[in-house]
Amino acid sequence: MPQRLVVIGGDAAGMSAASQARRRAKPSELEIVAFERGQYTSYSACGLPYFVGGLVKDAQDLIARSPDEHRANGIDVRTGHEVVDVDVDARQLMVRRHRDHSTIVEGFDQLVFATGAVPVKPDLPGSDAKGIYGIQTITDGIALREHVVHSGVRRAVVVGGGYVGLEMAEAMTRAGLDVVLLDRSPQPMNTIDPDMGAVVADVLRGLGIELHMEVAVHGFEQDADGNVAAVATEGHAFPADIVVLGLGVKPGSRLAHDAGVAVGTTGGIVTDRRMATKTEGVWAAGDCVETFHRVSRRPVAMALGTHANKQGKVVGDNVTGGYSAFPGVIGTAVTKVCELEVARTGLSEREAHAAGFEFVVGRIESTTRAAYYPDSSTLHVKVLADARNGTMLGAQIVGREGAAKRIDVLATAIWTGMTADEFSMLDLAYAPPYSPVWDPTLVAARKAVAEINSR
Ligand SMILES: Cc1cc2nc3c(=O)[nH]c(=O)nc-3n(C[C@H](O)[C@H](O)[C@H](O)COP(=O)(O)OP(=O)(O)OC[C@H]3O[C@@H](n4cnc5c(N)ncnc54)[C@H](O)[C@@H]3O)c2cc1C
Repeated sequence: MPQRLVVIGGDAAGMSAASQARRRAKPSELEIVAFERGQYTSYSACGLPYFVGGLVKDAQDLIARSPDEHRANGIDVRTGHEVVDVDVDARQLMVRRHRDHSTIVEGFDQLVFATGAVPVKPDLPGSDAKGIYGIQTITDGIALREHVVHSGVRRAVVVGGGYVGLEMAEAMTRAGLDVVLLDRSPQPMNTIDPDMGAVVADVLRGLGIELHMEVAVHGFEQDADGNVAAVATEGHAFPADIVVLGLGVKPGSRLAHDAGVAVGTTGGIVTDRRMATKTEGVWAAGDCVETFHRVSRRPVAMALGTHANKQGKVVGDNVTGGYSAFPGVIGTAVTKVCELEVARTGLSEREAHAAGFEFVVGRIESTTRAAYYPDSSTLHVKVLADARNGTMLGAQIVGREGAAKRIDVLATAIWTGMTADEFSMLDLAYAPPYSPVWDPTLVAARKAVAEINSR
């Protein structure tokens, strides 16, 4: 009899785990079953804003591998199947089948939680109005695109100025709507520092996006047909034909928690480096877990596809008797809204304070290319370094076309524990179409070094 591996969740983490396990173990050795409550598998949620905005024409293009393709590959994918209870001692799951509302019991030898994240949805008056959308799944994206294209909407209000909110603001702008962005923080993108967020805010306003910061949403007004008509805040109502919520996510760990699997302080499932939970034969990967931040040395829940895919692969290796480890994260992320690009890695000032670091900041304004070269544009770079020994702790970049991927060089330096002094003399490529003779990242690091030396 083959062993039975059951995966809960059929997207990035779950299907990476299942696919890697399938590559390593024959069907005669390992049966692999994946339960997915939705209708799709292995799709790019990251691409949803570009589909909603019309840049990607067909939602099918976001699907890397359909349920049928997985089945042809020897993975028994069951879509429309929601796991509602897990009994780890009995090695059994209860699964609700959406098509006939029946409940079935399934056994497993090894189990993978890959249940993703849960969007934050405050219970506000009027939030059941038609025309209010979250943007978590491909189904959300298809419904939102349909509404934008077919119902003649003109005014969109995006609630939440994180990266998903910003990407949706771009999507709505691209779709030709007037866009208002609301957030309760002082600046958009509160994963970067307020001084860099202020640059983002200025550019967004320049792009024609109406920005209202430090605004708390109190509820939603509806018209007589139950359609959303406005977003109500303290003393003001922002007229809206459509509302997109981008209020962040938290780990989808409830099912695991209820099954007695350990969940950490961040709300994510606790695993070791091999993505094994504290429960024998139970693994977890993706947005539902907490992971280790290599700079703060603390657990973090960081919902990003890049981690979900890697963690899934690690599970697939280990569950089939291999040895593979997920090394942790340093918080590298990048986004864009229209031509503005925003990137970060390591710790922000707030995070560095919280982790107990004393640090210096090197912040500069430079250009993306040699200043005389056509299409050169402004680039803001910020570097944080440990005041004691100069180790780089974090970096942020705000700029235009091509600016943000420079963050990868900074991320590599932070990952390897480089000091700002070492970084400032790094042999980076230079030619006028690509950078000034001193790359702006080097100059920011040099400025951090000067800060240390002046203390
Ligand atoms: C709009 C948007 C843009 C994004 N952009 C980026 C980006 O640019 N870069 C980046 O790195 N990340 C990005 N992300 C995040 C990235 O998409 C997620 O980190 C990634 O999808 C996580 O994969 P996952 O498999 O852990 O979770 P998910 O993709 O959420 O998959 C979990 C799956 O589990 C299923 N499920 C949950 N509970 C059950 C149950 N009880 N029974 C059966 N099935 C269940 C769900 O239906 C879901 O399909 C973006 C996300 C969104 C929403």
